[in-house]
Amino acid sequence: MPQPDPIDAASGDCVFCRIVRRELPAEILYEDDTFVGILDINPIHYGHTLLIPRRHYEEFLDIPPADFRGLMQAAHRITGALVESLDLEGYNVFSNNGRVAGQSVFHFHLHIVPRFRYDNIRLVHELRSYDPGELPQWGERIRRHLSPSRS
Ligand code: AMP
Ligand code: ZN
Repeated sequence: MPQPDPIDAASGDCVFCRIVRRELPAEILYEDDTFVGILDINPIHYGHTLLIPRRHYEEFLDIPPADFRGLMQAAHRITGALVESLDLEGYNVFSNNGRVAGQSVFHFHLHIVPRFRYDNIRLVHELRSYDPGELPQWGERIRRHLSPSRS
């Protein structure tokens, strides 16, 4: 007997899986074999779009690298359409990953948010600075995990 796909099996009541399966309504802007683009129901600004993989990946690190090109191509195309259709002056492209980072739907998605000069949206926070000599220490700590032998 064929075994259920573990990724799909985990996604029964996930809101984005249900949108992809057309079980819940959504304003769909874009579709290809791997991704769906919809309007966010509570937009930071009108036209705020979510790009969602059809398959249920919880967060960025779960996405297979083979899908990265398609993800970025779709994001690029949708962003271009938003800029043209809504006369955007700028845009933010980001994803929240993990509860502490503000993720509330645990099915990966890229936000594309329209921006205008006087939109009164603030996505920045108080900035820190490194103590003298600290910057290379942080760099070294991270670089060790990027060495070719680990990939
Ligand atoms: P995040 O907090 O990064 O996980 O983003 C989740 C986003 O999904 C929020 O901006 C919500 O407004 C949006 N959202 C949640 N449910 C729906 C839905 N049914 N249709 C469209 N957008 C949704
Ligand atoms: Zn899902």
